[in-house]
Amino acid sequence: MSNQAWLSRSFNAVWHPCTQMKRHEALPIIPIARADGIWLTDFDGKRYLDGVSSWWVNLFGHNQPRIKAAIKAQLDELEHVILAGFTHRSVVELSERLAALTGLGHAFYGSDGASATEIALKMSFHYWKNLGQPEKCRFISPENSYHGETVGALAVTDVPLFSNTYAPLVKPGIRVPTPDARLAENGERAADVARRAARSLENVLAKQGSQIAAVIVEPLVQGAAGMAMYDASYLTELRRLCDQYQVHLIADEIAMGFGRTGTLFACEQAGIRPDFLCLSKGITGGYLPLSCVLTTDTVYRAFYDDDVTRGFLHSHSYTGNALACRAALEVLAIFEDEQVIAVNKEKATSFERYLAPIRARADVRHFRHLGMIWAFDVVSARSDFATAFFAAMVKRGALLRPIGKTVYFMPPYCISETEMAWLCAATQEALDELNQANSRFATENLPLP
Ligand SMILES: *Cc1c(COP(=O)(O)O)cnc(C)c1O
Repeated sequence: MSNQAWLSRSFNAVWHPCTQMKRHEALPIIPIARADGIWLTDFDGKRYLDGVSSWWVNLFGHNQPRIKAAIKAQLDELEHVILAGFTHRSVVELSERLAALTGLGHAFYGSDGASATEIALKMSFHYWKNLGQPEKCRFISPENSYHGETVGALAVTDVPLFSNTYAPLVKPGIRVPTPDARLAENGERAADVARRAARSLENVLAKQGSQIAAVIVEPLVQGAAGMAMYDASYLTELRRLCDQYQVHLIADEIAMGFGRTGTLFACEQAGIRPDFLCLSKGITGGYLPLSCVLTTDTVYRAFYDDDVTRGFLHSHSYTGNALACRAALEVLAIFEDEQVIAVNKEKATSFERYLAPIRARADVRHFRHLGMIWAFDVVSARSDFATAFFAAMVKRGALLRPIGKTVYFMPPYCISETEMAWLCAATQEALDELNQANSRFATENLPLP
């Protein structure tokens, strides 16, 4: 069957995420038949470089032999078993490995990032309640934060497009200024912006600390805000303030964990350990849905009691799914065996030469790079920039999804030198094309994908 047949069936039967479906009248859905490495192939045989790691989940490419073999092996032993009152080898081994890597002794599992956020928020509140401080029930998050889109997670998510509609359902958290380094004023460095943001946070904690359960942040990079990067000193300061005011620190590394920022976990770059660490997305290499909240033994012990209601009575049907846990174990083994962090560091250095011309463009501002993420803001008068750029790249055979006027590359780590060079050249071409007044490729009416 051709692309055309699949896209019309999909359009008729599938409600696609994060999409005004009517917009697909103008901008066709792309049906993917198979994928290998960094390449997606559609039903007409056209290939697309997966420049966003399939929404930030894929780590080592598609059709990854080791992860595939691990899942197959698990499938022959045990696909899934209830985790209440039962346990299994893969969930035990994964929890032990994650504890050893993070110093956080207990792991609680969910299936999606948003459920990890919910778990962390509920656990933090319930911890303080168990300690006789039920008034600590509010949460702080920096402006432009994103922690998922369930009703609880929306309380700490600050993306108006996602949250405004549902405002009447949400008990809003407290917003503090973002440490986004782009806010640097003349002569200021990223660390100065971080210090300013931390001072504002301190003011809030000083006034309302007794009602605050936790501060939740995306360490080093606010992904959905448009890969907004900030100085690690903000996190160090945040850790100090949370200790001082007796407030939990929840690190949401759902997007940034597993090497994206150049270390296995972003918190490492600030030398801090959070009270809760939320993980998902890359945890299974992009193979299966799994999320995890790691926490301290101190938090765990506050729930350990003869009283049932002091326990954490929260569950998801697929908690600790064996196939997903086994995929995650293989991901961690690959990091170790293939020295992924060190290899990525070398790759990123050698990619500099392809990125330099983009960085130097007159229509590019705030070029930024951390680990395996590159982002820049495009100066463009076009209100349809994101859609037009997306379409111009699809035409060339690459999947990039700008956030507003921010273009970012967040490729699977298997990206080669040639592929990066090609992606950069295609990006330059697309930017040039969009700049031309008489663009042959008119996209004015194309909606955001
Ligand atoms: C994607 C994301 C989430 C939500 O994860 P889902 O699996 O989409 O629910 C939460 N926090 C951050 C930082 C994310 O990037």
